[in-house]
Amino acid sequence: MKRIHGRATAVCLLAALILGLTALYAVRWALHGDEWAGFPSNGDAFLSGRIRAGTVTDRDGEILYSVRDGEGHWSEDETLRVSSLHIVGDRNGFIGTGAMFNYAQIILGYDPVNGLYSRNGEGGVLHMSVDADAQRAAWEALDGRRGAVTVVDYVTGEIVCCVSSPSFDPEDPPEIAADDTSGVYLNRPLSVTYTPGSVFKLVTLAAAIENIPDLFDRDFHCSGSTDIGGGTVTCTRAHGDMKIEDALADSCNCTFAGLALELGGETLKTYAERFGLTQRQEVDSMRTAAGRFDAAPDGSLDLGWSGAGQYKDLVNPAAMARFVSAIANRGEAAKLTFIRDDARTGAEYERILAEDTAERIADMMEYAVERTYGAEKFPGLKLCAKSGTAEVGTEKPNAWFVGFVRDRTRPYAFAVCLENAGFGVAQAGPVANEVLQALVGQ
Ligand SMILES: [Zn+2]
Repeated sequence: MKRIHGRATAVCLLAALILGLTALYAVRWALHGDEWAGFPSNGDAFLSGRIRAGTVTDRDGEILYSVRDGEGHWSEDETLRVSSLHIVGDRNGFIGTGAMFNYAQIILGYDPVNGLYSRNGEGGVLHMSVDADAQRAAWEALDGRRGAVTVVDYVTGEIVCCVSSPSFDPEDPPEIAADDTSGVYLNRPLSVTYTPGSVFKLVTLAAAIENIPDLFDRDFHCSGSTDIGGGTVTCTRAHGDMKIEDALADSCNCTFAGLALELGGETLKTYAERFGLTQRQEVDSMRTAAGRFDAAPDGSLDLGWSGAGQYKDLVNPAAMARFVSAIANRGEAAKLTFIRDDARTGAEYERILAEDTAERIADMMEYAVERTYGAEKFPGLKLCAKSGTAEVGTEKPNAWFVGFVRDRTRPYAFAVCLENAGFGVAQAGPVANEVLQALVGQ
């Protein structure tokens, strides 16, 4: 009897263990089943690194990639294939930001009951937030120049345009040498950082608005250069007497270097961090490259230049677009996503600017377009913008143009950066205009 009792206890313990492990597995399956199914080594999901079922479309349903009869096909339009390569993915899986890997569960149509096997066997559909017409317009406007074009819907956080150059046709991939230095596999909007130059003056301006009480009453003067810390900060010309609005519109280095010295490196660093420019930003399951701001010593020439976006300053284009989107959205940055939100209700926001600070900066960016950049160059758009011409050593400068349409029915914030292209607004301004016209013309 004693022995039977002992065996019964053992069987009960064993049964409890099995039940417990089954429960643990069920919980892990519920939590991670989609990841297991979408893992590239799962032979039911991927074949030779390519996804085996499903469709990827732009925000209006135009096909970017689809699997038919077990064969993957990119869009039939070559410009769309090339312009969307870095967000869809390539044949060999060298591009880490491609939707084929990062959104595999949605594309495959995974659900916890049926697993990978959708009822019609065709997988699922990923509606990306990007707009095919904007993708094409950005690629054509880049016209072979290297760089990054990012446009964000500042109300929803949806990325409506994400183009990286150089690129290639995934249906006809070229031989790319092992020692290639062009970074053709990099999705520049997400994965690189650039010296920001004068677009960083928006950060210095925000810090100045919140820390210098008489900023808007002050008279500034620029004689074309100013001596700081044993060196010289220069402007392209003598800007003369001005208020802060004109200092931004003229992008006066002397004024902004002076503000940087007054604010101090630690204050500027705090603002760069608050605006998300020095950290990685989440884009669904991906992360952007982290930017950089080093607080230079008080009174130094380096500190002056750091407030004008030079010195060691670096920013990521998508993070810059997010910062500008917060200026556009009364201080709140919507979380970035590549997935179309059909209900337009799912955005998460982070307040990174006080509302009145955001509105004052927006007013000044609108004034800069009217006074300096030329509103007529952006027809039909109520544009707010800031240009940047970022010195990068001996090569031609990087050309930046960032801003937004001040109209919540066309809520587009953008960051355009062309590498070694020359003067900011002259080079990057027309690219921004072409993409915005493609978006608002629909
Ligand atoms: Zn100046």
